[in-house]
Formats: sequence, structure tokens, C-alpha cells
Amino acid sequence: MAIFPRAALIYVCCLIVSPFSAGAQQNQSAPWDQWSISNPTWVEAVKPFRIIGNIYYVGSKGLSSFLITSSGGHILIDGGLPQNADLIARNIQSLGFDVSDIIILLNSHAHFDHSGGLNALKGLSGAQLVASEGDRAALEGGFYLGFENNRNFAAPPVKVDRTVRNNETVHVGSISITATLTPGHTKGCTSWNMSAVEQNTAYEVLFFCGASVAGNNLVPAQYDGIVDDYRRTFEKTREWRPDVLLVNHPFYFNMDEKRAEQVAGNPLAFVDPNEFSALIQSFERAFEQSYKQAVER
Ligand SMILES: [Zn+2]
Repeated sequence: MAIFPRAALIYVCCLIVSPFSAGAQQNQSAPWDQWSISNPTWVEAVKPFRIIGNIYYVGSKGLSSFLITSSGGHILIDGGLPQNADLIARNIQSLGFDVSDIIILLNSHAHFDHSGGLNALKGLSGAQLVASEGDRAALEGGFYLGFENNRNFAAPPVKVDRTVRNNETVHVGSISITATLTPGHTKGCTSWNMSAVEQNTAYEVLFFCGASVAGNNLVPAQYDGIVDDYRRTFEKTREWRPDVLLVNHPFYFNMDEKRAEQVAGNPLAFVDPNEFSALIQSFERAFEQSYKQAVER
């Protein structure tokens, strides 16, 4: 069973304690520049690689981005921090793909560490952004829902070209990928699933949005209905058993370990149908503990 250290669960996505000092706020640097100082792995380059089938890892060491390819065009999921856009584009090119062949950009959720690079990637690729209605305002406003006026959590605004509903499928070339809304971590947190073929066998791949509490307030609510959203998401996902789990931070799916196994000769190193179950249980336990503490405060 995968063990996720409590510290890591709190740390991921959005720090509770901002790294910004009063002095840092006075200079002219973009707010997101500070995040790469406090979280250097978020901007650290790693060699891109094929995960399974037509799915490639093109993110940084600490922030995932996934490229899904087809001869009729590609899909890119998540853009990392704003300053990660060029790194992601270079990773895609180094794999032999053309950034201008990306037709659709998708986003797991509207937090600066996963949506921040989307505006620049849109400019580099000419792709359209497809996202849930629940996250549209935050993406287009460049804010973290509930922290609208806190510039430390800002991201470059990016226009959503089309919204998706729960169970809606997005098609690009031969790619079909389906959205499941898993709100809580953000109001429009969106998980995506598709089938990938490796050695003539199809594997169900889940790109999970995440369900950590991280920087969110539960009491008072970060956004109306957040507690019910988390609980419905746990209820909805409890029985999921995807063959391949991918998440917007690589440590959630033990990427380095699996990549080493893959390099050593196992083409199915990323296949583990039990992994999601362990992850979602750890998220649920951490959520209920945070909620209890928030109520008692
Ligand atoms: Zn987040």
C-alpha cells in the first residue's frame, strides 16, 4: 500500500504558509516566481518519456504535464507554473512532437501550479482550452477561488474556449478522453480517463485531479459547498480501480520508482490497479481529520 506522508499531503498543490515576505511583495517579480524558489522541484527539468501507449510525461520533476498523441493531433493536460510553459514545450519537441499539433489543452484544476502555464502554452500551440464550468471563473480571472484578492496565489488569466460536463468525452484525432467531475480540491476539479494500448492490450488510465485539502479552508468554507463536494467525490471514486494512475504531482503515483522499473525493462511498470484505492483512502482520511480540526477550532 502506498504511504503518503502527512507533511506531503498538506504541502502539495498549495502551501498553507505562503512563502511571501512583505519585502518580496514590494519588488516587481511576478507572484509565481516565488513558488519556484520555495518549491525548486516544480521547475526542475526531467527527461520526458513515454508512460504507456500514446501517453507521455512532459512535466517537471514536481509538477506533472501529460501529452496524449495521435496522428490527428494531440492533447496536453496541465501547464504547471507559468514559468514552466517553455520547459513543457521543449520536452514535447525533444520527444519528436510538434507543439503546434496540440489541438486541446485540458486542466486538472484551476490552481496556479497546474493552470499557470496554460495561457503561454495556448499561445505557443494555438490550442483550445477545455475545462469544467466550476473552474472557469478561476481560470479566466487568474485567481484561486476563495483567495480572489491574494496575488500570491494568482496565475495568468486564460480563456476557456469550451466547457465540459460530467461524463462528457473530448475527441482529438483517435483520442477519446472522458471527464469526471471530482470537486472539492477546487470547485471544478476534473479527473480524466481514457484507454491506452500497450502490447495489444488496452489499459484504463486515470488522470486524477487530486483530493488533498492543501491550502483550502473547510470552516469557513473556501467556496460554498466544499465539504459536501469532497465527500461526494470520495463516495464517487471509492470503487474506482484504474489500471494506470496518473496525478498532477508525480510523487502521488510513485513516478520515479516506476520509471526506473520501466527503464530496467518492464513495459508495464505503470500498471497497478490497486494504487488508486490506497491513494483515495489516504485523501479521505486526511480530509476528515482536517475537517474535524477545523470544526473544533
Ligand atoms: Zn491544487
